[in-house]
Amino acid sequence: PKISKEQQEEIVRRSKAYEKDDIHDLRKHSRRAYLDKRKEKKLLEIEDEIRDHEYIFEGVKMTEAEERELRYKKQIYELAKKHLEEDNDDEYKMPDAYDVVGVINQEKRFSVATQRYRDPEAVEKMNPFAEQEAWEDHQIGKATLKFGSKDRKKGSEDYDYVFEDQIDFVKVSVMDGIDEEPNEAEEAKTISKGLQEERKTLPIYPYRDELLEAVNDNQVIIIVGETGSGKTTQIPQYLHEAGFTKQGMVACTQPRRVAAMSVAARVAQEMGVKLGHEVGYSIRFEDCTSEKTLVKYMTDGMLLREFLGEPDLASYSVVMVDEAHERTLSTDILFGLVKDISRFRTDLKLLISSATLDAEKFSDYFDKAPIFKIPGRRFPVEIHYTKAPEADYIDAAIVTVLQIHVTQPPGDILVFLTGQEEIETLDEILKHRTRGLGTKISELIICPIYANLPTELQAKIFEPTPEGARKVVLATNIAETSLTIDGIKYVVDPGFCKIKSYNPRTGMESLLINPISKASANQRAGRSGRTGPGKCFRLYTAYNYFHDLEDNTVPEIQRTNLANVVLTLKSLGIHDLVNFDFMDPPPSEALLRALEQLFALNALNVKGELTKTGRRMAEFPLDPMLSKMIVASEKYKCSDEIISVAAMLSVGNSIFYRPKDKQVHADNARMNFNTGNVGDHIALLNVYNSWKDTDFSTQWCYENYIQVRSMKRARDIRDQLEGLLERVEIEISTNLNDLDAIKKSITSGFFHHAAKLQKNGSYRTLKNPQTVYIHPSSGLAQVHPRWVVYHELVLTTKEYMRQVIELKPDWLVEIAPHYYQLRD
Ligand code: ADP
Ligand code: MG
Repeated sequence: PKISKEQQEEIVRRSKAYEKDDIHDLRKHSRRAYLDKRKEKKLLEIEDEIRDHEYIFEGVKMTEAEERELRYKKQIYELAKKHLEEDNDDEYKMPDAYDVVGVINQEKRFSVATQRYRDPEAVEKMNPFAEQEAWEDHQIGKATLKFGSKDRKKGSEDYDYVFEDQIDFVKVSVMDGIDEEPNEAEEAKTISKGLQEERKTLPIYPYRDELLEAVNDNQVIIIVGETGSGKTTQIPQYLHEAGFTKQGMVACTQPRRVAAMSVAARVAQEMGVKLGHEVGYSIRFEDCTSEKTLVKYMTDGMLLREFLGEPDLASYSVVMVDEAHERTLSTDILFGLVKDISRFRTDLKLLISSATLDAEKFSDYFDKAPIFKIPGRRFPVEIHYTKAPEADYIDAAIVTVLQIHVTQPPGDILVFLTGQEEIETLDEILKHRTRGLGTKISELIICPIYANLPTELQAKIFEPTPEGARKVVLATNIAETSLTIDGIKYVVDPGFCKIKSYNPRTGMESLLINPISKASANQRAGRSGRTGPGKCFRLYTAYNYFHDLEDNTVPEIQRTNLANVVLTLKSLGIHDLVNFDFMDPPPSEALLRALEQLFALNALNVKGELTKTGRRMAEFPLDPMLSKMIVASEKYKCSDEIISVAAMLSVGNSIFYRPKDKQVHADNARMNFNTGNVGDHIALLNVYNSWKDTDFSTQWCYENYIQVRSMKRARDIRDQLEGLLERVEIEISTNLNDLDAIKKSITSGFFHHAAKLQKNGSYRTLKNPQTVYIHPSSGLAQVHPRWVVYHELVLTTKEYMRQVIELKPDWLVEIAPHYYQLRD
C-alpha cells in the first residue's frame, strides 16, 4: 500500500494505543503460551524450557538468536507469572455446573477447539471441556452463541441478533488499484461465452504476439504479472499454438501439487483434450501424462528428478519455471541447473515467471535476461486491521467470516489458513455455527482447498456462486498466487503460514506455524480486488504489520535440511557444491550438516563422493533417511515390509480417524494393530497387511476406522517404491516374523532420531539433547520404552515424537558405530 511516512507513524501510534504490551509480547513470542493458559501447568513448562535451554548450552557459546530466544522465554515466564497472580474478571465464565472443572473461560475453549485437530489425543485426555461442548450443542438451537475471546465488545444493530460477538477493525489504508477501469470483456465473462472467448478476456491476451516474439528473440525471459493475468494457463498454450511443441514438450513447473493438477485440468479443458493426453501433469507418486503429452505441468521437484534420467532435458523445448517468486528449494536448484544447460542447449527456451515485481534479481541472475511485464488489472483494496491483537486466529477468523457474511454486501470470502487440519476445523465450526439459523442469514457455501482433498471437491472452489448465497473459500497459501479464484471480494488474513524450518545446529527440522511476510500479506490482500474493489481483513494490528512482519519470506534454501539437495546434486555429478551457482547460496553450516548427515548415512564416502548406497538412495523421491531405511532393508531381508512402512509413513497422519461418537471403538481398533506393543511403524505395517489380506476391502477400512483414501494412496506409493526397488536391484524379500530385522532397517535410516527415557517420563534425544515426549496418539505412549527411535518431531503443546518404535541400544553401535562411538 502506498502510505506516506507520516501516515504510517500515525497508524502505528494509534494501534499502539490499543495494544497491551503483555498480550503483544506473548502473541509474538509464544502464541502457545498465551493460548494455553492452563496457568500453573504452563508456568512449569516454561520453567522446564528455560532449564532445558540452559542445560543444552551449558558451557557452549550461544548465538545471538539463541540468546534472544532464552531472553524471550524468561520474559514470557515473568509475564505468565504475573498473569497467574492477577484475577481476570473479564474472562467469560460458563454456567455454574461446569465450574467443578475449574474456571473455564472462552479462551480455553478456543484453544481446545484449535488444538483438537493438532493434537486430538492430548486434548481428549485433558478434556474437561467435553461437557461444555454438549452444553454448546444445546445452545446452538437458540441461535445465539456466546463465542470469542476477551476484548470483544458486544455486537450492535442487527448483527448481534444472529451472532453476539464481533471484532473491531480499523481501516487504515487502501492499496491502490492498477488499471481499475471496469473491463467489459471481464464482465462479459460472467455471462459465459465459452472457454475460447473467456481466454481472450485475460490481461495477458493482448500481449500474446509480443510475448511470442520475445520468446523467439531471446533464450531466457523473465515474465512478471499480477496473479490471475493468465501466465500459468495461457503461456504454455500460446507456445503450443506457435509450434514450440513440435520440437519437444513445454514444461511448466509449480511449487505445489494442487496447483499443478488443477491448472493442468483447466488447460486440458480449454484445449478440449482429455487430461493426461496432450496436456498432463506429473507430481510425486502420480504421473498423469502419456506418449501424446505436449504440455506438461509438474511440480518443481519432479522436474528436478527428471534431470537424473535426462541431464540435458532433451524432451523439452521450453521450460517455464512458474511462481519463481516463491523461491522453493527445488525452484532455486532448478535455476542453477537450467541456467547451466541453457549454455549448451541453445535451442532450449527458458521462461521464469513471477507474480511479484522484484524481477531484477532474476534478470541479473540469468545474465541480464529481458523482463516482460504484463500490465495487471486490480481494483483498490481497503486494508482493515484489528484494533487489538487476537489471541486465537482460528476463533478470530470464524467471527470475522460470520461478521462479513452478515454485514457486508455480496461477494465471496477467501480465508488463508496454514494447513489441512485448520481448514477442516474451520469448515466444521462454520457449518456448526450456521446450522439451524434458517432464514436468519443467507446461505454460506463452504469450500475447502488443500493438497489431499479429492480432485472433484477441489473443482468446487471454481464453481460460480448461486444468486443470494455467499461462498467462503478456506485455503492454504496456495490461493496466494498459485490459484486464482474469481469473485473474491473479501480476504480474511490471519497472518500465518506453515513453513519448514531447520535448525542446522540441532539438526532438527520441523513444520512450524510462522508469521507471514509483508510481501505475502500484500499478495493475499490483492486477491480481493480482482473483479471489483475489495476488502482485506487482517487479523492482526497495524503495529504487528509494520513492526513484526519481515519484508520478504526467506528463501527455503536458507532454512532447510539440505541433505536431499546435496544427494540430488551429487548424483547429477555436481560435486563442487560450494561453487554451485545458487541465486542465494545456503549457509555453509547447513551444507556441512547435510554432508555430515549423508556421510553418517553412508551415502557419501570420506572424500565426499557418492557411494553405491548413496546412488541407490538418490533414486527414491524421499527424504534421505527414508531412502536409507529402504536401501538398508536389503541387508535385513525385509524390503517387502519396509516399502509398506515407507509408503504408510509417506501418506502422513491421515490413516486413522476417530468419529466423535465412536472414539472408544476407533481407539480400540487402532490398538489392535499394536498388539504386543510392537510400535507405530509396525502397527502401520499391520494395517497395510491386514488390508491387503482382505483384498483391499473398503468395508474392512470402515470397520477398522481407517481412511480408505489414504490407504489407496499408500498402495499407489508402495507400487512405485516396488518399481524403484527393482531399478536399484534390491530383491523383494519378506521377513515378517523377524520384527527386529524390520526395526533395524528403520533404525539404519533413523538412528539420528534416537531418544532415551528420562525419570520424569519425558525423553531426551541422544544427539543435541532436547526434551521430547511420545505423542499421545502413539501405541507406545503408555508403555514408555527405555529407548526409542522416532519418525518425526511435531511441535504442538510440546515437542512430540510421532511414530515411535522401541530400540535396543546396542543396535546403534551395530548400525551406526561411526556416529555413536566416535562422536560421543
Ligand atoms: P496467473 O498464472 O497469471 O496467476 P492463471 O493462468 O492461473 O493466472 O489464471 C487465469 C484465469 O484462469 C483466472 O481467471 C482463473 O480464475 C482461471 N482458472 C485457472 N485455473 C482454473 C480452474 N481450475 N478452473 C477454473 N478457472 C481457472
Ligand atoms: Mg500462476
